[in-house]
Amino acid sequence: MIRALAALLLAAAAVVPAGAEPVALTFDDLPVFGVKRPVAEQAAITKKLLAGLVRHHLPATGFVNEINLEGPDRPARVALLTAWLDAGMDLGNHGYSHLSLTTTPVADYIEDTAKGDAVTKALLAARGRQERWFRYPFLETGPTLAVRRTFEDWLASAHYRVAPVTLENADYEFADPYDAALIAGDRKRARAIRREYIAYSAAAVAWYRSAALALFGRRPALVWLLHASKLNADSIAALARIIRHAKLAPVTLDTAMADPAYRTPEDYAGPDGNEWLERWSLTLHRELPWGSMPKVPGEIEVASARLSDPDDEHGTP
Ligand SMILES: [Zn+2]
Repeated sequence: MIRALAALLLAAAAVVPAGAEPVALTFDDLPVFGVKRPVAEQAAITKKLLAGLVRHHLPATGFVNEINLEGPDRPARVALLTAWLDAGMDLGNHGYSHLSLTTTPVADYIEDTAKGDAVTKALLAARGRQERWFRYPFLETGPTLAVRRTFEDWLASAHYRVAPVTLENADYEFADPYDAALIAGDRKRARAIRREYIAYSAAAVAWYRSAALALFGRRPALVWLLHASKLNADSIAALARIIRHAKLAPVTLDTAMADPAYRTPEDYAGPDGNEWLERWSLTLHRELPWGSMPKVPGEIEVASARLSDPDDEHGTP
């Protein structure tokens, strides 16, 4: 059943209506983002997220941290990755242990990335497919251009392409307080966080579309960074509504990346994990409309900061 639905999903997504702006969804930190949960809970989250993606004809690529498969429940956690492929989705490498290239020596970072595809690559190969996409953890691409080139030369030799990000809605900031509210049994608080998340997401989509238009003078395909969280599993219908109202056309990452905008050079080097509109804006010396960028509600920022690891200085997971 799910395989038949998945085939329909891909067929529907292959046709982009004229004038619609393509958007590819990407979900990081697979199998499941956030607090360490029993595998049965992870399975429920994965099932709900994938069912929502299939129901709303949203192709997606999931980026895996294979360190999160380790432990006694390893086979059951690997089965969660299989579920992504069964649902017609693609999988990519997000590093074995989600290291920062800002603070990790590049040789160690390469070793960790190479180690990060043992399971995923085999699952894809069993279907006659290849693992082709890499997403930088924290979007950190290296403190210097030399480090960046060293790593990206290795990536190319391993037949990977970088999956950039041109749309994000700070979903990770909402996801931790949402999980905390549910763990505390405070459903009212969880509902309130979800409402704020949906409102912020609609505003973020509008802003990134306007920023991309300002940068390119046209509306390029977008690549949306999300996380495989319970928040997104519970919000997928609302996110699909936002996509419909914005008249975005859901496509695969491959289709979005065929947009020539993604061949725009950018030579950012530094400690920050910037998304790609900002990188291109720096390289092309074209301003983005920062003044109109929506702000994450203050109380969500405070709650998220309180829950995050005090040793972790990175913004985007
Ligand atoms: Zn991540």
